[in-house]
Amino acid sequence: MAGIEVAEIQALPAPLRVPLTDLDAVPRWQQAQADLITDPEELRRLLQLEHLPWADSGFPLRVPRDYVARMQPGDAADPLLRQVLNSREELAEVAGFTTDPLAEAVHTPVPGVLHKYHGRVLLVVTGACAVHCRYCFRRHFPYQEHLPTRDRLDEALAWLAEQTDVSEVILSGGDPLSLSDRRFGQLLERLAALPHLRRLRVHSRLPLVIHGRVTDALLAQLGDPRWRSVLVLHANHAHELSPQLADEVAALRRVGVTVLNQAVLLRGVNDSVAAQEQLAMSLFDHGVLPYYLHQLDAVAGAAHFAVPDADAVALHEALRARLSGYLLPRLVRELPGDHSKTPVAAGCG
Ligand SMILES: *Cc1c(COP(=O)(O)O)cnc(C)c1O
Ligand code: SF4
Repeated sequence: MAGIEVAEIQALPAPLRVPLTDLDAVPRWQQAQADLITDPEELRRLLQLEHLPWADSGFPLRVPRDYVARMQPGDAADPLLRQVLNSREELAEVAGFTTDPLAEAVHTPVPGVLHKYHGRVLLVVTGACAVHCRYCFRRHFPYQEHLPTRDRLDEALAWLAEQTDVSEVILSGGDPLSLSDRRFGQLLERLAALPHLRRLRVHSRLPLVIHGRVTDALLAQLGDPRWRSVLVLHANHAHELSPQLADEVAALRRVGVTVLNQAVLLRGVNDSVAAQEQLAMSLFDHGVLPYYLHQLDAVAGAAHFAVPDADAVALHEALRARLSGYLLPRLVRELPGDHSKTPVAAGCG
């Protein structure tokens, strides 16, 4: 069986060149993924802003139109805009903010595989994303060294076949759901052949930024009784959630998929009690349970999003006093060398 070929992955950022007569054959979400906004001037016009200062930081603007449609026109401080605009603040060099904050190379037994924690293994299945999030800790990730060419995927699966104490495989990237149904299905078929894998986890932002990714094929793949599946969405603000998302989550839950959310605490986006409370309650309204609230990884170009630990802990304590226990995400950070995500303070778990 063919693996994921690097050619398709590299082709993703460019517009799909689809003859008009074939447009019907391309699912809506893939058309949307091929029609991203990459020009800050176009974004400025759509948002009816007079000025939208931006900078070329080497990690270009990339945002789907469905996502822009949920921004507030005229608001230069919109929390969704702040997550995607390549702002001048990114050019600041700040001590302690580096290109590989998690020292991931140490945990890579074979290219494309991260094995840091007991019982679960993370696979980097693509370098492509439908959106470029400015705070992304993978913005400097050497994808070319990790992309799953056919040989690398064979190597990763051969390694995984021998790790019989691994019961969960985590698909990450990039965004694993940016793969076509066919490619994603081929990957799952190969994973399904490893009997010790009982849980399949997918981390994705795609259903939040483009409507229609939860196709019948994806429902069949994630709902396969072969394993228990978990989809972890990465929403940071309640405005990212939509009625379309609620429908897609409901469909996932009907086939038995557990849907969780992990957010990153971001200054100027969601660093208030009101924003976090609204996010937690809205997630639940959309069928999603809060899981983690992450302290920012100290990645170069993202220092302007950092929230000091003392403020993060105070915010979390205020949330604990207001939210039902099951709506309170765990406040954690990722440290190189730890055996799990690390609570930011005692009691934050
Ligand atoms: C975050 C992460 C996991 C998953 O950790 P959970 O606490 O189970 O969500 C697994 N592997 C790697 C490499 C990770 O970074
Ligand atoms: S979707 Fe995830 S991997 Fe992709 S840029 Fe955003 S945070 Fe990074």
